[in-house]
Amino acid sequence: MNNSDGLTRDIAKQTMQNDVVLNAAYINGNWVAVETAERGDETDIHPLYDPNSGEVIATTRLCTSAHVETAVNAASDAYASWSQTTVSERARYLNAIAESMEQQFDKLVGLSVLNNGKPIEEAKIDVSDAIACYRYYANLITAQETWSEVSTSESGIRLLKTYAPVGICALIVPWNFPMVTTAWKLAPALAAGCTVLLKPSEVTLLPELMLGNILSAINMPKGVVNILPGGAEVGAAMTSHPQIDKVSFTGSNVVGEKVMSQAAKGIKDISLELGGKSAIIVCADADIDYACDLIIGGIFTNAGQICSATSRLLVHQDIKQSLFKILKAKTESLHIGDGFDISTQMGPLVSAQQLNQVKKYFDIAAAEHLNCLTGGEIVDGSGYFATPTIYTDVPATSQLWMEEVFGPILVTTTFTEEAEAIRLANDSKYALAATIVSADEKAALDMVLQIQAGHIWMNEQQIVLPEAGWGGFKQSGIGRELGADGLSAYQKSKHVLLPQ
Ligand code: NAD
Repeated sequence: MNNSDGLTRDIAKQTMQNDVVLNAAYINGNWVAVETAERGDETDIHPLYDPNSGEVIATTRLCTSAHVETAVNAASDAYASWSQTTVSERARYLNAIAESMEQQFDKLVGLSVLNNGKPIEEAKIDVSDAIACYRYYANLITAQETWSEVSTSESGIRLLKTYAPVGICALIVPWNFPMVTTAWKLAPALAAGCTVLLKPSEVTLLPELMLGNILSAINMPKGVVNILPGGAEVGAAMTSHPQIDKVSFTGSNVVGEKVMSQAAKGIKDISLELGGKSAIIVCADADIDYACDLIIGGIFTNAGQICSATSRLLVHQDIKQSLFKILKAKTESLHIGDGFDISTQMGPLVSAQQLNQVKKYFDIAAAEHLNCLTGGEIVDGSGYFATPTIYTDVPATSQLWMEEVFGPILVTTTFTEEAEAIRLANDSKYALAATIVSADEKAALDMVLQIQAGHIWMNEQQIVLPEAGWGGFKQSGIGRELGADGLSAYQKSKHVLLPQ
């Protein structure tokens, strides 16, 4: 296998054996064994897969709601002192996490490729983004003054403002960006002075389990971060627990709705980052070759398993023919393969379940008689591979147009007027992201003002900066992560009124 970095499956498996504690939860600063036969059936044994081959790489046991109880007590005990630490102390711990991740960069990349199937280059971007996020919130919290004076004009009253942590937080993350989604929640929560229970996705436990060792190595005070490898039972116990003050969830809308109702008990603060069906609009004046690169990056990165994937293409009628010719050729030249092969440009889906989801949409497309420009097939053999797929002239009533596939499927249509493009882009229950490809910046900015989305790329695709708040409108969620908004999500303001 061609791999210039020297990172191999065997090396990643060694990391798994040496640096990851399985059959355990990280509670109160210690690895607590998750005992066998807690449920007394086969669900006690949880397999972890290599999506590149479908091979079981390890088995582990998942936590139960009893572990949630212990972890909540630990987080609660730790809260009194952690919430009163100085901002510079908290920044020191965040920088220490970043430094430790940097030192173990290759190991974290290897675990991500092994357990998630990402191509090495994409896994490297993920680890770098997570590190940048810890550093960003270390700097942001250091810059926040304890007291700020609010102008009160003629009132004769002095008004001071300060911030307090929101409390004990339940952080729940999906499998598509392990470490990154965790960093988006954990970094601002710790910066704000919260203590947390973190539940990684049961599909991709390896990268987050290594985080437990990193926290021990930097002497993070006991109980501040508790990591619970678990599934729905643990997530439900966390989000409905009376001592949890805040729930931050990233995942599907189906589970997001459950989480919202679970968190309603006790009126918990909540942030939800949910699904998307984002549009990419290619205007008549766009550089067609470059536009095709943006389209491909926007849908086939991470095999389309991105909440912000620009999975609906709206292309101006005048450039349709030449664009589809180039797009088809570029898509068919993508190298699909094992994430450990450095030449791989698109890896497998994360799981057999996700592959089935994609297959279901191939079948729907066939039943709807959609016009397939390229792809539309599950790859025979081992691993969870589907071909990068493009359907053209897809009606807005198609299930593929309306529903989030979370796989490498692009649906396309054409427009003649900008107003029509905006109407089509906004015609979705989701409103997370969008891309506009145009040579006219002013015209594109005018479109930005009319498009419903929280994150809009102009002649760029899928770049995420820690400074830029992340989140959508409509059913794409509630609240924002990243940026200053991401810190506010874990703080409550306090106002003090006193005589001048
Ligand atoms: P999922 O909703 O199936 O699972 C997400 C997490 O919720 C997992 O950790 C899971 O164990 C947990 N969970 C399951 N049932 C629960 C319950 N009843 N209570 C509490 N937690 C529970 O999502 P997934 O398949 O892991 O991820 C894919 C989905 O995530 C897609 O819909 C995608 O759009 C969305 N997503 C959104 C963003 C964003 O920023 N908006 C980012 C990444 C993924």
